[in-house]
Amino acid sequence: MQIFNTMSRQKEEFIPLTPGEYRIYVCGPTVYNYIHIGNARPMVVFDTLRRYLEYRGNKVLYVSNITDIDDKLIKKAQEEGTSMQEVARRFEGEYQKDAEGLNVKKPTVQPRATEHIEEILGLVADLIKTGHAYQAANGDVYFRVKSDPGYGKLSHLNLDDLESGNRALRSQLADNLKEDPADFAVWKAAKPGEPAWESPYGMGRPGWHIECSAMSRKHLGNTIDLHAGGQDLVFPHHENEIAQSECANGCTFSRYWMHNGFLNIDNQKMSKSLNNFFTVREIAEQYGYEPIRYFMLTAGYRMPLNYTIALIESCKNSLERLYTCRENLDFALAHPHGTDATLAEKAGQAREKFVAAMEDDLNTPDALAAIFDLVKDINTLSDGADAPSLQAAADTFDELAGVLGLLYNRKTDAVPPEITALVEARAAAKKAKNWAEADALRARLADAGWSVMDTAQGPQLTKL
Ligand code: AMP
Ligand code: ZN
Repeated sequence: MQIFNTMSRQKEEFIPLTPGEYRIYVCGPTVYNYIHIGNARPMVVFDTLRRYLEYRGNKVLYVSNITDIDDKLIKKAQEEGTSMQEVARRFEGEYQKDAEGLNVKKPTVQPRATEHIEEILGLVADLIKTGHAYQAANGDVYFRVKSDPGYGKLSHLNLDDLESGNRALRSQLADNLKEDPADFAVWKAAKPGEPAWESPYGMGRPGWHIECSAMSRKHLGNTIDLHAGGQDLVFPHHENEIAQSECANGCTFSRYWMHNGFLNIDNQKMSKSLNNFFTVREIAEQYGYEPIRYFMLTAGYRMPLNYTIALIESCKNSLERLYTCRENLDFALAHPHGTDATLAEKAGQAREKFVAAMEDDLNTPDALAAIFDLVKDINTLSDGADAPSLQAAADTFDELAGVLGLLYNRKTDAVPPEITALVEARAAAKKAKNWAEADALRARLADAGWSVMDTAQGPQLTKL
């Protein structure tokens, strides 16, 4: 398939280093609050990429981290009078609920920064040893940007531009004793009252960028196939990850880079700092999660996508059309009476169109259009279609919707009784405010391959 590589700024054939096996790292959330729908965009986009690669018969090692050390977490914990760990665990749990609701597949590995301090310090040590990092008098360890001739290659910035952009930072030089304003912290000396870990540089904590470099190296090796995230991560986060990883490992960090465009509101980037955001949770409570997933697929992933509630409503309507069509197909399959085989042919054409769209840099709007072509054919042809064609249409429909991670709320009456019993036991545990028991039952359901979501209409089951 072709993907647009941010590094080369062009579409390229996406070929993994090991044939049939893609190693992908997607920067995950900083868990200090509920996620907003802007954060949901990379989750859905790159989950869809993963599903497509798997659909094409590849193995995907998908690593997506949890950033559970950060100034924002520390601030939130201070405001609440709790610990950073407590805040992180709570919002990690809320993130998982949203990810499940959005039908985002669980990453192969979902590493937490706090559980990789050793690996992070290993990387810092490698950088110091090779002269790419130094400890300043204030105790912080900085990456020496000038030591990396490739610095700026992803964001296509050069150091001189950066320096003029950083002029304001120059005044801080005296305070933090950096050699150069462009240098960035890989290890931060502890400040009073902040969480800190022991290190050869004194008590401290990692910088944000080094976390991803270290976790990627640990779980995927020195060179990976794809590193991805939102466009705002290109600089400085990904640029700095490249600098650290390539200087420490002496080889290419990631062979391809993909970045999703912004989810906007009133044509402005949705963000916590601008306070112009809607959480995934609040929209899901009103409309369900699935229209949010669908919405993310209605635009090419690199395009800006402007959010309005009217668009979510229209996505909900589109989904209803898909569900209705699929139900009608079930009905037709139960009572086949035609002899026409055209529908099977049409299903094949829809699949071809779908695959061609996805092969072209994950063109999900065209992929959706291919599914709607099939819907039209099903609506017009199923009455006269023969049983094998109806079956082909149903199989193709499920196959293509599944690649986009859609139609996961389809009611099948095939819920085994033991699963129903677990759901009921969980509801009873929740009613009795026995949260530990309720969580344990949720975990048992997950082990059995079912996810349960609490909605206004009661618990809703989805097959994982
Ligand atoms: P954060 O927790 O801020 O690091 O963000 C998690 C992910 O969401 C990153 O990949 C960001 O690039 C992405 N992201 C944040 N805001 C938006 C937005 N408005 N539109 C698209 N992606 C976003
Ligand atoms: Zn990252």
